[in-house]
Amino acid sequence: MGATDETAVSQSRRRLIVLTGPTAAGKGTVEGILREKHPHIWLSVSATTRAPRPGEFNGIHYWFLDEEEFERRKRNGEFLETALVHGMAHYGTLLQPVLDHLTQDIPTLLEIDLQGARRVKQEAARLGLEVVYVFIAPPSFEELKRRLIGRGTETPEQQAKRLETAKVEIAAAKEFDVVIVNDNAERAADELWNVIASEYDL
Ligand code: 5GP
Repeated sequence: MGATDETAVSQSRRRLIVLTGPTAAGKGTVEGILREKHPHIWLSVSATTRAPRPGEFNGIHYWFLDEEEFERRKRNGEFLETALVHGMAHYGTLLQPVLDHLTQDIPTLLEIDLQGARRVKQEAARLGLEVVYVFIAPPSFEELKRRLIGRGTETPEQQAKRLETAKVEIAAAKEFDVVIVNDNAERAADELWNVIASEYDL
């Protein structure tokens, strides 16, 4: 990290919002509502080695990279955090765009998995980043299972892996500053907005 970046971070007074939650807890829906109501929020575009789903576009939903390119960027120190998610694909947050948005006082949100949130915790102090950790929880494990199977975007094998991960993630909710139960996506989005609004004096 160069001197310019360090200056940029130390000048930033705002806290980065890190959003985590198990698969099918409805993070995507909550974020969608939030960003529709408050389009000035910036959601970091992660890099991933997984294949795009129908309707997903490079640079909008993710930066879709092959393993080699992902590794190259990792070696180059371009990521704030990376994780192998569901044992299947690599995901990572690119650091520079996050710093750029924070220093412009733009509400900055990361939507990452539990491992990623823990890595941010380790890195934040070193980088001089202040962070609010928010956990989106499903109303129950049964409801999460119903949503995951209902959306039908994963194979049964992928669903089983995601459910295993979800159990571990739900147990980690206590590590977070704020826990939002997504029993109703509109209400959960409002609750998340309140967190952001108080951090950014909005
Ligand atoms: P999906 O493949 O369904 O888009 O995402 C799978 C999981 O990867 C989700 O739990 C999501 O939060 C997580 N994820 C997405 N981007 C990142 C990232 O940049 N870093 C980490 N650690 N997890 C991510």
